[in-house]
This record gives sequence, C-alpha cells and structure tokens, in this order.
Amino acid sequence: MPELRHDPIQRRWVIIAAERGRRPADFMPRREEPEPKFCPFCPGHEEKTPAPIRVYGAKGPVGANDPWLVRVMPNKFPALMVEGELDRLAYGPYDYMNGVGAHEVIVETPDHGQQLPDLSLDHLALLLDVYRERLDDLLRDTRLRYVMIFKNYGRLAGATVSHPHSQVIATPVTPRTLSSELRSAMDHYHLKERCLYCDVLAQELAEGVRVVAENEHFVAYCPYASRVPFEVHVFPRRHAADFRHTGKNRLLPLAAILRELLARMRLALDDPPYNLLFHTAPNRDSGAKRAGYWSTLDFDFHWHIEIFPRLTQVAGFEWGTGFYINPTAPETAAQFLREVQPGGGA
Ligand SMILES: [Zn+2]
Ligand SMILES: [Zn+2]
Repeated sequence: MPELRHDPIQRRWVIIAAERGRRPADFMPRREEPEPKFCPFCPGHEEKTPAPIRVYGAKGPVGANDPWLVRVMPNKFPALMVEGELDRLAYGPYDYMNGVGAHEVIVETPDHGQQLPDLSLDHLALLLDVYRERLDDLLRDTRLRYVMIFKNYGRLAGATVSHPHSQVIATPVTPRTLSSELRSAMDHYHLKERCLYCDVLAQELAEGVRVVAENEHFVAYCPYASRVPFEVHVFPRRHAADFRHTGKNRLLPLAAILRELLARMRLALDDPPYNLLFHTAPNRDSGAKRAGYWSTLDFDFHWHIEIFPRLTQVAGFEWGTGFYINPTAPETAAQFLREVQPGGGA
C-alpha cells in the first residue's frame, strides 16, 4: 500500500508509492527509446488494462465491451489506492497515513494518432463531461479532500504511454499548491468582498495584451507573472467555484476554446510537451469540520485550467527556491499565440 508522509519542515505531503517498483536502473539517463509497438490503450487490447470504471460512446455510457469513444479505468500502477483506513498517525516529528485515494486513467479517444486539437467538439465536450462525472463520483467519498484532473502530454511532460489519455488523482489531503491558492482567494474575499480571479479577469480583459483567445463563456490568457514561457490559464467568464456545476451548454464553448488554444500551441511551439491541470473546489464534505472551513468558497474561488508547456527544464534555482526565471514575457507569448493561424497548417 502506498503511504503519505508529511514533511514537517516544508509542510508538504509526499506519496511514497514503492509498489510502482522502480529500481535505480529505471532512473538512469535513457537514450530516446523507440515507441513500443504494443499500445495497451488501443481498441482490441482492453483485456491488457484493469476492468473499466466507465465506458462512453457518443451518446453516453455504454457496456464494457461496446465500441467506445472515452474509457475510464483504474491506473494499473496506482500512486494511491481506494481501499484502506485513513488514519493520520505519527512517530517522532513525522506524520503519515495510508495512501488512500484514487488514481484513474481516462483514455480520450480510441484513435492512437489523434490528439486533443484533432478531436471533434462533441468528442472533446464528452471528455469534459467525463471529467465532471469523475469529480462528482470521487468527491462522494468523504475520505478524499481533493480531486486533481490532469494531462501529461509528451514524454518530457511525464507521459509514459503516447496514446491520448488524461489522469485523475484523488488525495486525502488538499495539495499544498491548491491550499495556498484557496487561502489567497479567501483572504482577498475577506478583505474586499470580491473574487480575486474575477478582479484579475476584468484587468486582463480591459488590457487585452495577455489574452490569447476568448468566446462568449471563456477567456484564455497568459498570466501576468507566468512561471514558464507560454503558460496559459483558461477561466469561465461567469464566476463559479466548482467545475462540477458547469452546465452542459458550457461544455461545448469550453471544448472550443481548449481546442483552439492547443491547436495554437501545437503550431506556434512545434507540438510541445505540456501539462494541463484543473483547479477546482476541494471536497467540502470531507475531513474535520473546522469552523468556517471553506465557508466562503462559493464566493471566493473561481475554477480554471492551467496549461504549462514544457519548453524549459526546471533547474536548480527554481527547484530549490520555488522562484521562477521565465525567459519569455507573457505579453510576447500571448501575441505569438494569437498570431498563428491554426486551421491552415495544424
Ligand atoms: Zn494506442
Ligand atoms: Zn470569480
């Protein structure tokens, strides 16, 4: 069973997932290995992966053996597991707990060679609906405090299988990046009675220089203090804390802006590896019922998607300080992304 260990100095949890069975040789610098011929996510190979949690066709859920468009299954080598007691234990200065959680894989399309910008808008909207459904399902487990939906695209971004897929990791603690973000949002709200993100969005729309794409319901821009070149965030225009409450009618416009953005990135940056992460509300039904625990969350937090192209290596200074040196101004990045014409060559 994986274990969560708490670092009392950095105040950070680490998942020790020794079951994933990596030996020193697995980490040695690798030459570019050729793409393995066998893909476990391709249609016809379903028996090589764990039994699916849900399978979707164009019109919604279908049987495990039916033709599919999107497939959700447990990760074969999970970082966290659903079974087990969740007790926070201690020895000496250290806290630890069982690695209770969930780790799922969402195969985005049966077509091995298709990437997100190649999917039809209906297909991409179905995928977003599946994300929403996984959040809904996992957040019913009150042991889980946070559900992170993310995608690693390309080996340099951490993808080990090239077949298009995303992942879901549900954790029994709120990840530190999220909890510090939630706290900033809450502090701003307590001070000003306004949503910090709505304020930022208004500024970005008024200024326009960092906006990359927008439609009636969503806006994508390079953050003012982008950590890495071409970092892009996508926000719903209308304030909402929880991605789960996104209406069906908003999924198509979200699919449209995401597809446009990823097509622009692919063209402008020569198909870069990237990480895409959802930042949405934590589980308010879990954990200790502390007084006022996220009580203003619906007003102060604003869900969004963060995309980080992996064009530069995180080097010693960033790694050691959490302080980033970004060689591309977000204004330049946004202009570059606005000016390419996907549709044409993409
Ligand atoms: Zn495949
Ligand atoms: Zn807001």
